[in-house]
This record gives sequence, structure tokens and C-alpha cells, in this order.
Amino acid sequence: MKELFDIRDRLALVTGSTRGLGNALARGLAEQGAHVVLHGRRQEAAEEAARKLAAETGASVDAVAFDVTDPEAVKAAIDPLVERLGVPDILVNNAGLQKRAPFNDFDPADWDAVIATNLSSAFYVAKALSPAMSERGSGKIVNIGSVQSKLARETIVPYAASKGGVALLTQGMAADLARYGIQVNCLSPGYFQTDMNQALWQDADFNAWIEKRTPAQRWGQVEELVGTLIYLCSGASNFVSGQNVFVDGGMTSVV
Ligand code: NDP
Repeated sequence: MKELFDIRDRLALVTGSTRGLGNALARGLAEQGAHVVLHGRRQEAAEEAARKLAAETGASVDAVAFDVTDPEAVKAAIDPLVERLGVPDILVNNAGLQKRAPFNDFDPADWDAVIATNLSSAFYVAKALSPAMSERGSGKIVNIGSVQSKLARETIVPYAASKGGVALLTQGMAADLARYGIQVNCLSPGYFQTDMNQALWQDADFNAWIEKRTPAQRWGQVEELVGTLIYLCSGASNFVSGQNVFVDGGMTSVV
């Protein structure tokens, strides 16, 4: 049974893991024995986060920096990373961005930034690794969705469109890549307190809404995402592909 979930010594790249959910996901993988590569836009920040994670877990942690919205920068960073460490066994496409405004006022540049950071990025990074994973005949790709992969909310139209896109990107990638032994799934968190949604958790009305709207009656704790991630990154899910698993305290199951 233990072997089913064993990810020891697997090489894992988690995008957007200098902080927030990505950092918690990377920590979860590291604590289970994976060799994790932390990532952000700035090399210095990624290295600092890697030093901290290595010191706290005793795990082997590397760092890489690139802008996930720039396909050439992605390739220019991924190719040397693969040369240095090998082809990752696990890719978690987590980097993300939120911009809020009423639909009538939404700036097209902000629309572009959200779609590029949340959706196109997952295509660019996966595409930089999937040919080598295909050649090897194995790989686990986890795209981070959201409750907005399924449900919209006012003022965040591009975010919902991007996360809905991530769910279908996942299904499309599963359709193309399952034949190569690569499983592609989506992990969709409910509401977790990070830098991204500081405006929400500092708002008493929003907190009251979360408690009322979520069957679990609370925000999620970042560690609560790790079990599902380990499942999706381990042999336990070898015949599971194209799925979207919500870790949301029941939020998307109720009106
Ligand atoms: P944070 O804002 O706390 O962290 C975002 C991370 O993404 C940072 O590490 C940041 O790196 C990185 N990043 C952003 N833009 C880029 C870019 N252009 N290139 C490279 N890296 C980039 O966000 P969260 O932890 O809250 O969110 C992480 C993911 O989880 C996102 O996909 C989000 O949509 C999703 N999610 C979050 C929920 C929540 O409740 N917080 C709920 C559902 C989904 P840098 O150090 O360079 O800034």
C-alpha cells in the first residue's frame, strides 16, 4: 500500500512555488521524499525559498526562475534544468494571477495578463517537458484549477475564464498524452488564505460569506491540498487522467 503513494526521489517542478499554495504543495512533495525544484520570476527569491525549504525539511531542493507567460523564456530555462537534473517526473502548473474589476471596466491588458499567467503558462511549461516525458514513457502533470474552473463570480471574469480553460486544457492534454504513460489531472482548491486573495480574507463580510457558503464552514488550510497532490503524483493514480479534483470543503457541491 505504501508503495502506491511512494514519490521518494521523484524529480518535481512546481511553478509559482516561492510562496502561497505552490510553496505548500512543494513542501508536501519534499516531505514525502521528492527532489523539488522551486520556481518564481526572480532567481534570488526562488533560491531563498529553496534554502528555507531544504533547511526545514532536510530535503534536496533546487531553484529556477522564468516568466511563465513567455514561451521562449520557459524553454530557455527548462532546457538547461533538464540537462542538469534530468526530465522531471512531476510537473505542477501552479503559477497564477488574479485581477479584480467589474466586467464593464475590465482593462484588456489585465485580461491578457490573467489568461497568459493562469492558462497559457500551463501549456508553455507542459509543452517544454512533455516530449521528453513521452519519450521516457512516464510523467505526472497536475494543473492547478480553482472553484472558478466550474463556478463564476462577479468581478473576476478573466480568472474564471482562465480556470475553466485549465480544466479543459487538462482534459485535452490527457487525451493526447495518456498513450505515453503521462497522467494529466487538475487539482482545484477552494478558498485558502494567500497573498493572492488578501483583499478577501481581510474583509469581514467575505469571511462571513465563506463560512456560510462552504459546507465545511471555513477556509482551507494549505496542508489540506497535499494528500490529493501526492495521490495525483504517485503510482496510485496511474489509470486516472483528465480529472478535476476539488479540494474545497464541499463548496462546488452545493448551491
Ligand atoms: P500567490 O499570489 O500567493 O503566488 C503566486 C505564485 O505564482 C508566486 O510564486 C509567483 O512568483 C508566481 N507567479 C505569478 N506570476 C508569474 C509569472 N508570470 N511567472 C512566474 N511565476 C509567476 O498565489 P496563490 O498561492 O494564492 O495561488 C497559486 C495558484 O493556486 C494559482 O494558480 C491560483 O489561481 C490557485 N488558486 C488559489 C486559491 C487560493 O485560495 N489562494 C484558490 C484556488 C486556486 P513570484 O515570486 O515571481 O511572484
